[in-house]
Amino acid sequence: MLTVNAYAATSATDPLTPTTIERRDVGPHDVLIEIKYTGICHSDIHHVRSEWGEATYPVVPGHEIAGVVAEVGPEVTAYVAGDRVGVGCMVDSCRECANCRTGREQYCLKGNTLTYGSIGKDGTLTQGGYSTHVVVNDDFVVKIPDAIALEEAAPLLCAGITTYSPLARWGAGPGKKVAVVGLGGLGHVAVKIAHAMGAEVTVLSQSLKKMDDGLRLGADHYHATSDPETFQTLAGAFDLIVNTVSAVLDLDAYLGLLAVDGAMVNVGAPAEPLSLSVFSLIMQGRSYAGSLIGGMGETQEMLDFCGEHGIGAEVEVIRAEKINEAYERVLASDVRYRFVIDVSTLR
Ligand code: NAP
Ligand code: ZN
Repeated sequence: MLTVNAYAATSATDPLTPTTIERRDVGPHDVLIEIKYTGICHSDIHHVRSEWGEATYPVVPGHEIAGVVAEVGPEVTAYVAGDRVGVGCMVDSCRECANCRTGREQYCLKGNTLTYGSIGKDGTLTQGGYSTHVVVNDDFVVKIPDAIALEEAAPLLCAGITTYSPLARWGAGPGKKVAVVGLGGLGHVAVKIAHAMGAEVTVLSQSLKKMDDGLRLGADHYHATSDPETFQTLAGAFDLIVNTVSAVLDLDAYLGLLAVDGAMVNVGAPAEPLSLSVFSLIMQGRSYAGSLIGGMGETQEMLDFCGEHGIGAEVEVIRAEKINEAYERVLASDVRYRFVIDVSTLR
């Protein structure tokens, strides 16, 4: 066992505080990772505040992990000490069900093990990347290309794959008009990836405050959703809308922006239910779908794609003691565009 420093939530309402946790001994197929940077995802906030159901405390959040291999088990062949690696939202799955066998471990039929807040196969509660080290089975570790700085790579492990997967599945590319709703952690990476795929990209943000950034990140157009005219001007305009918003939206208004056969994919995961009129779908043969992160093979594919296209997240690196302040800023949509914890400040 290795005792390591971490930051944990002890209830839904108290601030996160420093603590120590135990990491298991390195097993035959395990990789011990010295964590360098961990991104703060809005999902961390939903989870620690028990917005998605009662969490089991203490929670050490963090599923956007970038670091360096410190040690590997005797059966590990893909990694050696010193490799630059990442860990995302999952650390295990059954490997046997139809979904695992087709590379969709995120939809494991027996239930996968999440990086934090899950009971692992050893019966203990998993704890995430707001900590100095983690031990992970080698099938759930990915390589970070040399072209991406570790702090800019960390957010790709969740924000990157969560947006890459639906953009790829729904064919974002040349000739396709893609809208990204919400220019936060997921949204800003979605803009970069959709642009690199060759799509014509529009940002739909609450205001025009971040317009210069949006255009610099690769958007071709930028509109404020607080302006009712936006919904008239852009009616029927898009082949694909990726909704990254963490709150409830007026779905009918956004569905009205889809062209015939267009699809709106929700990756944003508000706690409250969303409702829609079926006529918003029926009248133009539109689809409304959801998407959860991505599989492990696809996560490596996304990182390689980002490496080739020079894509990393736009980050604000913070010391660990600023985590609670960062949470408040994320909730106020005051993030440009991902807070990343410098894990050396936890040592
Ligand atoms: P984030 O950085 O807070 O970004 C969300 C953005 O949504 C904000 O920056 C804001 O953009 C917009 N927004 C926030 N409140 C809004 C409101 N009331 N009305 C309209 N727009 C609003 O969060 P994130 O880390 O990108 O995560 C976004 C959501 O995705 C969260 O619910 C998270 O849990 C979920 N998520 C899902 C998956 C998955 O696998 N499906 C994976 C990761 C995260 P503007 O300021 O530009 O309007
Ligand atoms: Zn996340």
